[in-house]
Amino acid sequence: MSLRFYNTLARAEEEFLPLDPEGRRVRLYCCGPTVYDYAHIGNFRTFVFEDLLRRHLEASGFEVLHVMNVTDVEDKIIRAVRESGETLQGLTRRYEKAFSEDMETLGCLRPQVMPRATEHVAEIIAFIQRLERNGFAYQAADGSVYFSIEKFPSYGRLARLDRSQLKPGARVSQDEHSREAYGDFALWKAHTERDGSIFWESPWGRGRPGWHIECSCMSMKHLGESFDFHCGGEDLVFPHHEDEIAQSEAATGRPFVRFWLHSAHLMVNGQKMSKSAGNFFTLRDLLARGYTGRELRYALISVHYRLPLNFTMEHLDATRQTLRRLDPWVERLGERASAADGGARPEWSGALWRAFHESLDADLNISEALGHLFEAVRASNRQMDDHRLAGAEATGLLSDWRKIERALGLSVGHLEEAPPDEVIALARERDAARKGRDWEHADELRAAIRAKGWVVQDLPGGHKLTRL
Ligand code: AMP
Ligand code: ZN
Repeated sequence: MSLRFYNTLARAEEEFLPLDPEGRRVRLYCCGPTVYDYAHIGNFRTFVFEDLLRRHLEASGFEVLHVMNVTDVEDKIIRAVRESGETLQGLTRRYEKAFSEDMETLGCLRPQVMPRATEHVAEIIAFIQRLERNGFAYQAADGSVYFSIEKFPSYGRLARLDRSQLKPGARVSQDEHSREAYGDFALWKAHTERDGSIFWESPWGRGRPGWHIECSCMSMKHLGESFDFHCGGEDLVFPHHEDEIAQSEAATGRPFVRFWLHSAHLMVNGQKMSKSAGNFFTLRDLLARGYTGRELRYALISVHYRLPLNFTMEHLDATRQTLRRLDPWVERLGERASAADGGARPEWSGALWRAFHESLDADLNISEALGHLFEAVRASNRQMDDHRLAGAEATGLLSDWRKIERALGLSVGHLEEAPPDEVIALARERDAARKGRDWEHADELRAAIRAKGWVVQDLPGGHKLTRL
């Protein structure tokens, strides 16, 4: 089956073929965090969706080059620096580190490149000069440099704007994405008193780059002038992504991005979760309440990325129950797989994995994919209850599960975590009990290991400990 994605540019699903003539490499750009505070779980809905996309592309055999920028200079950051008295670098590096930790807790693969805006100022200046030479940029009386949307006839194509409603000359110098932000937008923002010591020298005087230009410049630097995917939350369609297209295509004269993918917002009581509305949770808030990164990841990922998702604690609790159905199933399969009747391992058909993977081929249809998984859980649990599941079949299902687990990103940070010594000691004691055919004691030890948050499986080569 072919791979299809809903392209915001076309407002339709389209078949995906990589731009790479060899059909092997896929280039993916994701708008990254603005590092002035902890990211909230709404932000992470978008980042987890992007990670699912990357994992699916990799599982489909592509080699993905994933770039995510770090916005480390911007209005909100400057305000935070002013209010905290910290240096720009001190504050932004601290939250960048927290962001990376949170991404790891949520099982997100680290993008291969995470460029910072402040480390690309010279390149951004050169980019703006290129736009000036091409006749798209001008310096206004306030000292800032603006992009003239009048000069770019297809402006508004992504957001489907009615150009007659764009007020000529209405300039927008703020970074924050306001829907009233029609009109010319800032490429370079002249220094003001409020910026304090945060500025760079440029041909237009002291100032700093605008937000949109950062993404055009850094995505093209690392991925080339045209690349496959550009992603973000739906609030980025306008003006951020519209402006990125205008700047990039005005500079190069070439199509910027093939597929634009946008995720729907995480909501709270019908309102977008956001810092400004004050209705947000950070990952750390939820960890403090006893939830795990794995649970939150599953809660965010299990609803299709283009459907709005209302966040509630009840939803997280339901997720915990769902995962609790999976863990004992895996444990049981492990036991069944090592049973004596396993015999020679026949070629497993991999039907579960194929069905799961093909569902994701259709614009990441996660509901259908998880439907296949839980149907297999139900059916094989029944077979195990009736002692009808052959060891070889259990081995095959386990192998499918491992692929699904990787595709969903549920194993990261769990399989790799080393068990504590006391858990290892219990597992060894259990090995000895099994050797002595003391099944009752072996079962007690399994329960004791479980109570400490670990699952023990008996594999042909010995026991294996996995985080619950
Ligand atoms: P920011 O740091 O504000 O630039 O946001 C980082 C990413 O999170 C962007 O892709 C936003 O579109 C996305 N985002 C912000 N709020 C939400 C939300 N409530 N639900 C989903 N994504 C969001
Ligand atoms: Zn961006």
